Amino acid sequence: MENKKELRSWLDAFGLNHPLVIAGPCSAETEEQVLKIAHQLKDSDATVLRAGIWKPRTRPGNFEGVGALGLKWLQKAKEETGMLITTEVANANHVDLALQHDVDILWIGARTTVSPFIVQEIAEALKGTDKTVLVKNPVNPDLALWLGAVERFYTANVKKLGVIHRGFSTYEKTRYRNNPEWQLPIDLQNRFPDLPLILDPSHIAGRRDIIFDLCQTALDLNYDGLMVETHFDPDNAWSDAAQQITPSTLIQFMDDLKIRKETG
Ligand code: PEP
Ligand code: MN
Repeated sequence: MENKKELRSWLDAFGLNHPLVIAGPCSAETEEQVLKIAHQLKDSDATVLRAGIWKPRTRPGNFEGVGALGLKWLQKAKEETGMLITTEVANANHVDLALQHDVDILWIGARTTVSPFIVQEIAEALKGTDKTVLVKNPVNPDLALWLGAVERFYTANVKKLGVIHRGFSTYEKTRYRNNPEWQLPIDLQNRFPDLPLILDPSHIAGRRDIIFDLCQTALDLNYDGLMVETHFDPDNAWSDAAQQITPSTLIQFMDDLKIRKETG
């Protein structure tokens, strides 16, 4: 990863605001839900719409996502609002389907980053494409595993890369769903200063009342972006109900957050 400058180039090429704001529901639920949220976010600082359509749930029996059908809804949201779109991919087949539906950014979930064979398979499916990939930290606080996943993409010639800090699981009960362990992404940035770093406060918090403070901490640390789960009716969301905020709350947060102006 010598030529690190090119890692940042996609942020500039997209002409995106600093910080980059990715927002949208944990899961795509219905076409109406995706389109409604996209329209509520259209004129906000959020330039990228997120929605999970394949949901890797920790235990079976929970909602596992609408599957490929949701890609059509995301594509429609992109056409109607001009937002870029992103979803999680967890195998090579997901990559193929996402590519067919013009998904701009693919993210790798925390349960996928832990698995080098799957990461390798996904990286190879992306070879020769021009897609942007954001790699979430693995569920466990293992910096080498996180970096290793990033390196697998880089080696497969996927150069538009970034990382998402979503916290680390622990058996202890803390105020967080996943402990932030702020030092770990700082260590990662020290190793690769030009790798864009995005905070996912939603999965760190697991509850909506501390999302704002987490966002502010990230901006104080000069993170490059935020990915915030956003739903018009958070309490009735089909997944991660306790941590989602409404689009209007996000708009208010973006007004209230103190954003450092330097872009590095
Ligand atoms: C998500 O973004 O909805 C998700 C499942 O995230 P993670 O992989 O961080 O648990
Ligand atoms: Mn979620």
